[in-house]
Amino acid sequence: MKVFVYDLEKCNGCHNCQIVCKDEHVDNEWLPYAMPQPDTGQFWSKVEEEVCGRVPHVRVNYLPVQCNHCDDAPCMKGNPAVKKRDDGLVIIDPVESKGERGIVDACPYGHIYWNEELEIPQKCTGCAHLLDDGWEVPRCVDACCTGALRFGEEADFADELKDAVVLGEEFGTAPRVYYLNKPERFVAATVVDVYADEVVEGATAMLQRAADEEVVSTGETDEFGDIWFEDVRPDVYRLWLKKDGYLDQAVDVDLTQKDCSIPELQFFKQPVKA
Ligand code: SF4
Ligand code: SF4
Ligand code: SF4
Repeated sequence: MKVFVYDLEKCNGCHNCQIVCKDEHVDNEWLPYAMPQPDTGQFWSKVEEEVCGRVPHVRVNYLPVQCNHCDDAPCMKGNPAVKKRDDGLVIIDPVESKGERGIVDACPYGHIYWNEELEIPQKCTGCAHLLDDGWEVPRCVDACCTGALRFGEEADFADELKDAVVLGEEFGTAPRVYYLNKPERFVAATVVDVYADEVVEGATAMLQRAADEEVVSTGETDEFGDIWFEDVRPDVYRLWLKKDGYLDQAVDVDLTQKDCSIPELQFFKQPVKA
């Protein structure tokens, strides 16, 4: 049984996978697996971009998505036109599915599109026509020059898949598309002594989880006054700052929904005793 494996650390957002999918399927008929994809409106492979944080602490995450070729696929339930091949690919039969608009809504990921002109539901076929023709991998995999996207026998990826995640695990569909190195959240701050009008280098920063007060990470501000904590699990934290001659400073940081950037974290010198 085949799997798709995306290593997000290697994905540079080039969109090649998305572009060649269009090239392979727009205006091309690959029966019995697919009728032509329309010029616009469908993305069987789609590179999603998420801009996280704010200036000056910005990171762009790329997340390529496609049909997950689920083992427990809701789109197959009660829809005889949707079938699973022996290699694990889920195919919507373009002839049998004519007029079956309900199949579009059956995918909890939104990966099925309705072709208004042909009146059929359409999605990624895994390029089954190419595999049948002797190709070892689909077009999108072949076009990924960084090696971020791979395809092959599940057993050959067994070791790596132990650390992989799937999207929409809560849907319980047993996806066959896996992701390695999916970034967690980050906290970044620029520490500033506003009275001296300068950034503060060499301040000790400490990230403490609010629930149990465990310190999950420590670091030091660099020559630009910056501190970055990467790969932090979504949760609520307290960011502590300490440095000789300064008052201890703490700010609450909520990473449950998004990353956190603090462009100017004010740090105050201890008052001088008279
Ligand atoms: S072709 Fe590869 S590197 Fe480029 S966006 Fe797709 S997965 Fe990422
Ligand atoms: S991702 Fe959606 S369309 Fe693809 S197999 Fe799973 S349920 Fe079906
Ligand atoms: S496997 Fe083929 S149809 Fe599916 S996303 Fe890749 S190029 Fe497109």
